[in-house]
Amino acid sequence: LLQIEGLWKDYRGRQVLRGVDLAVEPHEVVCLIGASGSGKSTLLRCVNLLEQVDDGAIFLDGMELTAVDVDEDAVRRKIGMVFQQFNLFPHMTVLENITLAPVKVHGTPRKKAREQARELLARFGLADKAAEYPDRLSGGQQQRVAIVRALAVRPQVLLLDEVTSALDPELVGEVLDIVRELKQQGMTMILATHEMSFARDIADTVCFLDDGVLLERGSPERIFTAPEQPRTREFLARLR
Ligand code: ATP
Ligand code: MG
Repeated sequence: LLQIEGLWKDYRGRQVLRGVDLAVEPHEVVCLIGASGSGKSTLLRCVNLLEQVDDGAIFLDGMELTAVDVDEDAVRRKIGMVFQQFNLFPHMTVLENITLAPVKVHGTPRKKAREQARELLARFGLADKAAEYPDRLSGGQQQRVAIVRALAVRPQVLLLDEVTSALDPELVGEVLDIVRELKQQGMTMILATHEMSFARDIADTVCFLDDGVLLERGSPERIFTAPEQPRTREFLARLR
C-alpha cells in the first residue's frame, strides 16, 4: 500500500534520514522505534508531506507523493496523522474540529460530515463531547478526538507520532485501546513509539531507526527477543 524508497532528508546539512526503504502492506501495523533524534517523526512527517524530501520517493496506492506536481489535498485525504500534542484547534468545538477537513478537503456536505463525525464520536465513547471545546477535555479525551479527526477523512493510512507521550499514565490506556481497536478493524498504521510493550503487543513489524538509518526490521518477537544488530541490542538493553 505504501512504499518508501531510498528516502534522504537533511536539515541544513545534517542528515536526519539516510536512505530509508520501507514497504507497508494493507492492514499492516508498523512500529518505528529508536532513540530520540533517530528520525522517527521526520519519517512520518515526510510521508504526510509536512517535510520535503531531499532524495527518494514515496508511493501510496500507486500515487507518487513525492512527485513535484502531486495533489496535496488528494494525499491528505488518503493519509491521517495524529501528533503527540493533539494539535486540536482550541477555538473550535470537538464537532467543528472533526468536520473541518471533510468539509474543506473532501467537499463533504456539512450535514453529512456532522453525521459521520457523531457516529465516529459515539464509536469512541465521546458522543457527549461534540459541543465541548478542547480545553474542557482530559488529555486522553483530546487525543481520542484527535484520532477521530484523523479518521474523519477515511484515510487509507494512519500515522501516529508518540500519541501517548503527552498523557498522564492513567490516560494512556484509553488511547492505546483505540489504536488496538483500529488494528482489529484493519487500519493500516505507522506508529512512532517509545512504549516497547505496546509496540510488542500491536506491531506486525517493528523497525529500528538508528541515526536516520533503518537498521533492522522484523516481527516484534524477533526484534525484542533476538535482535541481530548490536545497535538494536544496545538500544533495547538501555530501556530495561
Ligand atoms: P523523538 O524520539 O525525540 O521524538 P525522533 O526520532 O522523532 O525523536 P526527529 O524528530 O525525527 O527524531 O528528529 C531527527 C533529527 O532531526 C533530530 O536531530 C532533530 O534535531 C532534527 N530535526 C527535526 N526537525 C527539525 C527541523 N525542523 N529543523 C532542524 N532539525 C530538525
Ligand atoms: Mg519524534
